[in-house]
Amino acid sequence: MPNLLIVGPPGAGKGTQAARIAEALGVPAVSTGDIFRQNIKDRTELGERVSAILDAGEYVPDSLTNELIDDRLAQADAEQGYLLDGYPRTAGQVEFLDGVNLRRGEQLDAVIRLVAETDEVVRRLLARAQEQGRSDDTEEVIRHRLEVYERETAPLIAIFAERGLVVEVDGIGAVDDVTERILAGLAERGIAA
Ligand code: AMP
Repeated sequence: MPNLLIVGPPGAGKGTQAARIAEALGVPAVSTGDIFRQNIKDRTELGERVSAILDAGEYVPDSLTNELIDDRLAQADAEQGYLLDGYPRTAGQVEFLDGVNLRRGEQLDAVIRLVAETDEVVRRLLARAQEQGRSDDTEEVIRHRLEVYERETAPLIAIFAERGLVVEVDGIGAVDDVTERILAGLAERGIAA
């Protein structure tokens, strides 16, 4: 089963699509953002450490995030493959994940790149703020998260492109249509259920 990433700016629909694609392919969808939010909700020690960072729209330090991913990918359901959503976000995290894969005797099979324009993602994130009340979905923090994404994470796509891994998908449109596009792009690379 495949080792996959889904990348794209905040608001591109990564979480929604990750759940669907993971289900279709029989791998767990692992979202570092979801894990951090759950820890904050449960008031764990990790949650206490990262709460203010998420509220500010900054990145959690690599040391914490990498350890989290190491533990999560060691769990039984991820033995056969995974779909990571929101990780890796920094060059240090890419390097760490390469090490994890090396230890597993595996490599990444594809990187799904969800493409969406800034105006559209801001619109979606503001709508999500109304629906879900996420504390990092205020207009000011949204703008900051997009800046951090452009500075820290967007440049990493070139690394995956050099490795020939990127499946580029238009993230605008009905949720079902976007899922179909992703599954079709993966199937072209021989990745299917
Ligand atoms: P997300 O749900 O992916 O939008 O992530 C929400 C927030 O969690 C981000 O704005 C960061 O504060 C934190 N976060 C999630 N994943 C990472 C990561 N890979 N590296 C650093 N911070 C992260």
